[in-house]
Amino acid sequence: MTASRQESDTPLWLFADQLGPQFHGGDHAHRPVLLIEADSALRRRRFHRQKLHLVLSALRHGAADLGERATLIRAGTYTEALRRYGRPVLVHEPTSHAAEAFVHRLVRAGLVAEVLPTPAFALSRNEFRQWAHQKDGRSRARFRMEDFYREQRRRFGILMDGAEPVGGRWNLDAENREPPPKGRATLDIPAPYRPDEDEIDAQVRRDLDGMGLATVGVDGPRLFAVTPAEAGAALQQFVAHRLPTFGRYEDAMLGADWAMAHSLLSVPLNLGVLHPLDAVHAAERAYRAGAAPLAAAEGFVRQILGWREYMWQLYWHFGPEYLDHNELDAHNPLPDWWTELDADAVDAECLREALAGVRDRGWAHHIQRLMVLGSHALQRGYHPRALSDWFASSFVDGFAWVMPTNVIGMSQHADGGKVATKPYTSGGAYLNKMSDHCGQCRFDPKKRLGPDACPFTAGYWAFTHRHADLLAANMRTARAVSSMNRLADLDAVVEQERHRQAF
Ligand SMILES: Cc1cc2nc3c(=O)[nH]c(=O)nc-3n(C[C@H](O)[C@H](O)[C@H](O)COP(=O)(O)OP(=O)(O)OC[C@H]3O[C@@H](n4cnc5c(N)ncnc54)[C@H](O)[C@@H]3O)c2cc1C
Ligand code: SF4
Repeated sequence: MTASRQESDTPLWLFADQLGPQFHGGDHAHRPVLLIEADSALRRRRFHRQKLHLVLSALRHGAADLGERATLIRAGTYTEALRRYGRPVLVHEPTSHAAEAFVHRLVRAGLVAEVLPTPAFALSRNEFRQWAHQKDGRSRARFRMEDFYREQRRRFGILMDGAEPVGGRWNLDAENREPPPKGRATLDIPAPYRPDEDEIDAQVRRDLDGMGLATVGVDGPRLFAVTPAEAGAALQQFVAHRLPTFGRYEDAMLGADWAMAHSLLSVPLNLGVLHPLDAVHAAERAYRAGAAPLAAAEGFVRQILGWREYMWQLYWHFGPEYLDHNELDAHNPLPDWWTELDADAVDAECLREALAGVRDRGWAHHIQRLMVLGSHALQRGYHPRALSDWFASSFVDGFAWVMPTNVIGMSQHADGGKVATKPYTSGGAYLNKMSDHCGQCRFDPKKRLGPDACPFTAGYWAFTHRHADLLAANMRTARAVSSMNRLADLDAVVEQERHRQAF
């Protein structure tokens, strides 16, 4: 922070995902704050109705909390609002390539005085650049999340005993990721934090009703924290009551338990009202106080300090062209039932449940995103860029930076293995082990041929057949090709899946 900036009273413009004290407190606590509700941003995509509600609610609660410091302008576009405001503003680096180019245009137009580094993540973009370059000055040929994560743990001193990880191991995944408990319909743990809606939410709902925006999904009660105070309460509730179960059932699915032991913190984190280090410190405190097992705390820290930060940094590192990767040459359009979130048109119980979650809440948990929705899209060859756009608009926590590496990379392997070393997909056996869905499904996870052939089981073999050369060349997937070659009915399965219309 330069002396001139410290002294000046230049106002600070906050985007809707920059609403926490890390953006407007500290060195900036004396500045007037500008918030903008730009109609063009709300209309940019056909967003989930509940996503629009969360963003408007967050902005308006932000303005209310900042009181006289804040000016909230409603305008057609950001530029129009800045002109109307009439004073050049400071802004933190925004969270997408498009927005970054835009704020730099605003600097040239004299509407923005300066673009400041973002405090949104634990690691700065500059520090990542240094990490990405090895000591000899060359760029790392390949990134591994595990290397990044260990460096993050060391750098921020999280779950460390001196130079060593607490408990002697960096990764406790082997103790996590169990199937759901047998014979139970839910995990039977305290419910996640649920905010109380107030008059601001009521007004947002009335405004959205009257704006004539094209949306997807259904309206519903606000389920996610949008202010720093709500985020603090949500974090506390999670750490006190749900974290102990988190790691163990991280990958499990139960039809009657939509949230399982997940934290539901991606929305406040992505809105910038919860700082990632506050979340990991809370988990570490719970472990050190004996209130959560190490495996659970480590699993949670890995998600936030590892995966989330890694995906953010790779978004910038890979650049905007990354979104156009299509290594598996997948060109099928997303079907209407998918884009319309028409879960009732789907028979496959695992898929129906995940899609219904998106329709009803704009949210599904990680394993539903990766191993149900993502895996289905991969098997059926949906166009990766279209899929990424779909995730960005249909999920309440979908923001531009989080999509490419998660969707193009991790879930669709469209980047040829930059993010994940193998495509993530499976047959019905895995889904049957990790969920209670198959018992209620009209398909049979063991069947690959016939009217009750499971679309995931048959789809897995059809996918393996389509990409046999690529999969055979990868040590981690070569066995799938050998197994496929032993299937006597492979041709019939491939033919059946080529004609499958309904799921
Ligand atoms: C295909 C696909 C699409 C996804 N789309 C999004 C998205 O639009 N927005 C989003 O925030 N996350 C996305 N994720 C990551 C992850 O699924 C969600 O962050 C998580 O399900 C949100 O629920 P939660 O807060 O209860 O998470 P928890 O299971 O409680 O995990 C804790 C936190 O870890 C972070 N996290 C874990 N994994 C990731 C990851 N791979 N990328 C980023 N953050 C991560 C999130 O902030 C999350 O809140 C996606 C993953 C996949 C495979
Ligand atoms: S049988 Fe197949 S489609 Fe049905 S729930 Fe199980 S995995 Fe999903």
